Amino acid sequence: MKFTINKVAVIGSGIMGSRIACLFASIQKEVFLFDTVNPLYLNSTIKKERNTNVDNALLQTIQSNPNPLYKADDIKNITTCNLEDDLSILKEVDWIIEVIVENLEIKRSLYDKIAPYKKIGAIISSNTSGIPIHLLSVGRSKDFIENFCGTHFFNPPRYLQLLEIIPTPSTNPAVIEFLMDFGDRFLGKTTVLCNDTPAFIANRIGIFSMMKIFQLIDELAMSIDEVDFLTGPLVGRPKSATFRTADVVGIDTLVRVAEGVFQNCKNDESVDIFSIPNWMQKMLDNKWLGDKTKQGFYKKIKTPTSKEILTLDLQNFEYKPKQKVNFPSLQSIKIVDDLKQRLQQIDLLKDKAGIFYKKLNAAIFSYISFRIPEITDNLYSIDDAMKAGFGWEIGAFETWDLLGVQSMTAWMKENSVNYAAWVDEMLALGFTSFYQIKNEQKLYYDQNSKSYKNIAAQQHFIIYENYNNKIVWQNSACKLIDIGDQVLGLHWSTKMNSIGSEVIEGLNKSIDIAEKDFKGIVIANQGANFSAGANIAMILMLASEQEYDELNQAIYIFQNTMMRIRYSSIPVAIAPHGLSFGGGCEMCLHADLLRFAPETYMGLVELGIGVIPAGGGTKEFVLRASDEIHLNEPDTIPLQNWFMRIATAQVSKSGFEAENLGILRKGIDKVIMNPNRRIFDAKQTILEIQNNGYTKPIPRKNIRVLGQSGLGIFDAGIHGMKMGGYISEHDVKVAKKLAYTMCGGDLSQPTEVSEQYLLNLERESFLSLCGERK
Ligand code: NAD
Repeated sequence: MKFTINKVAVIGSGIMGSRIACLFASIQKEVFLFDTVNPLYLNSTIKKERNTNVDNALLQTIQSNPNPLYKADDIKNITTCNLEDDLSILKEVDWIIEVIVENLEIKRSLYDKIAPYKKIGAIISSNTSGIPIHLLSVGRSKDFIENFCGTHFFNPPRYLQLLEIIPTPSTNPAVIEFLMDFGDRFLGKTTVLCNDTPAFIANRIGIFSMMKIFQLIDELAMSIDEVDFLTGPLVGRPKSATFRTADVVGIDTLVRVAEGVFQNCKNDESVDIFSIPNWMQKMLDNKWLGDKTKQGFYKKIKTPTSKEILTLDLQNFEYKPKQKVNFPSLQSIKIVDDLKQRLQQIDLLKDKAGIFYKKLNAAIFSYISFRIPEITDNLYSIDDAMKAGFGWEIGAFETWDLLGVQSMTAWMKENSVNYAAWVDEMLALGFTSFYQIKNEQKLYYDQNSKSYKNIAAQQHFIIYENYNNKIVWQNSACKLIDIGDQVLGLHWSTKMNSIGSEVIEGLNKSIDIAEKDFKGIVIANQGANFSAGANIAMILMLASEQEYDELNQAIYIFQNTMMRIRYSSIPVAIAPHGLSFGGGCEMCLHADLLRFAPETYMGLVELGIGVIPAGGGTKEFVLRASDEIHLNEPDTIPLQNWFMRIATAQVSKSGFEAENLGILRKGIDKVIMNPNRRIFDAKQTILEIQNNGYTKPIPRKNIRVLGQSGLGIFDAGIHGMKMGGYISEHDVKVAKKLAYTMCGGDLSQPTEVSEQYLLNLERESFLSLCGERK
């Protein structure tokens, strides 16, 4: 059976529905977003009035922050509809996603209404977070039941990576197979197959973990500030840690999920954890529900002169100023960069923090061991769900491996924390970890076959930490690895992945090695960001010490390295993600091809610190502007657009938006929706390019610059901005320098120049601006 998704109907335009609609619109699907007719206009014949529910909801959504659309104009792909006048549209759609209120009867009566219009073979799914999926489709037609399942998106759907897919026993397996793949490749999600059990996987484990923390806060007499410090980035969890997350999600929502598990999972050995602590009930009674009621575990206080965040004291229910948390044992651990090392050191602590972690970890390990095969057969699904849905950097089974399965189980036995029998069985077979790396692939222990198995989708992921035996070269920042099929992968790890001399050395060394023995290089990092730019601290130091020769030399080498990326004899691909600023952007501008993650924030931001881009960025924008200028019509408009992108330090708010900035080149570069696939895709493209015969490009000597004729126009514009009070005296100086460089200096007439000419000019301009105090 073949499924093709072109038209999608999203029914329910609330918080989730309108955002799910935006996600599908962003991947260029035709979306029909439905809601009820506004009761005020039930008798109106004017469509616009009848659609006010859905129209207002969508408007509010696209104005919200963070933005649910990757590109603002993708809104054109959404048609708003109402559930009285437009049902016949459903006859054409390939997938109906129901996202209305969480109520079985209301959902079922909606299905009564829409079922007659559903196209035979079309997929239909519910976004319910807690209603058993099989109860939703019971009593429907064969076509409905076979094509029905749960598709549980997390909020906000653009940013949260998890999509849980929940079949019923009657769902056609082909539907599930299709959605697992579609969600991964087209929506960019980590798709996780779940059994139809209460709260599915992520919420079941995530809420358990929170409830256990709520129990420990009482048992160990800790404060909210202490617990949020211990359960945040220090251990690879989101900044919002435990209580801030609870405020964002809403205490009522949390309680609803916990109560759902408490009532429906009587066989859960830890079900008592899900009963609500007294203080939480009191918060519900007080309507202290978190952000939605402006107070929960935290409360923001605004005075005319300041803002303060107060923390709830659970002992006396008063809000108090945030307390500085002091765990002396963590002083030296919190500065360890590597999360895995940090977790191992934390596991050895014996103070209150140590006891907290030991008890929490043991409880989580016990809980996840018993959830197999109840909620899933595959242990990696639990790790995937927690990483993608709750932002855990490292999964629970992965953490257990890291701390030692044998030593943790020994501790658990000594302290009467039970765990499932299959764990001891695994150890008895001589398997001492839940995961293994074999041939650069991560395998998981499957307790059914009692052996290690492949994780299906991961065959298309290149995960650097699996390649520790494949290092070709390294220095203190970079690792160059053999990613197979004669392609190299370069990555580095520095503060914010900034580019300093070690990275420059790494880039040059990679190109040297690849030109001799390999088919190409993929440059990509796997931390939080690709690169926040050149190492500014170094530039500032050299500038403040007026080491201009050294600075000149450093910039010269940087420029040459960027040029080598383009003009080496092998293709160089870059796969950026996250912040990709300044030097990181300049590097990308010189790649043969780019594979963006959807969340890539890229731009030349140097003007923000009072200099112009000098790693080939300014040169490259002039070159691209020149390619837009028709030779016989010296038009300054293209150049002005490119000038403004640098002058206002424009940054793309997604990988897709990099096209608006002229960075993503149509037909060459693209966005890979699942960021885990981008390095693999870049590698495959390098192999294709090599198969078709790669030709080293020839440096350009025909870049048209406008000289004095362009400068005059820019000077007038800059003067106007100054007169209008938009920019300062110093901004004028920097903007003029940028204009001078982008016009190719004060040449008396439009002229064709080489890349090197422009590189020299941008370097000179950069150095002269470094001489400025500001
Ligand atoms: P919401 O309250 O923001 O939106 C519900 C929508 O349903 C509204 O647009 C409303 O007009 C519509 N609706 C109400 N009654 C209806 C009816 N009789 N017929 C048709 N439409 C009707 O809710 P939400 O947060 O978007 O949640 C929607 C679904 O997604 C629920 O099943 C919820 O459990 C699930 N969910 C929510 C979140 C979240 O964080 N909000 C996360 C995951 C899943």
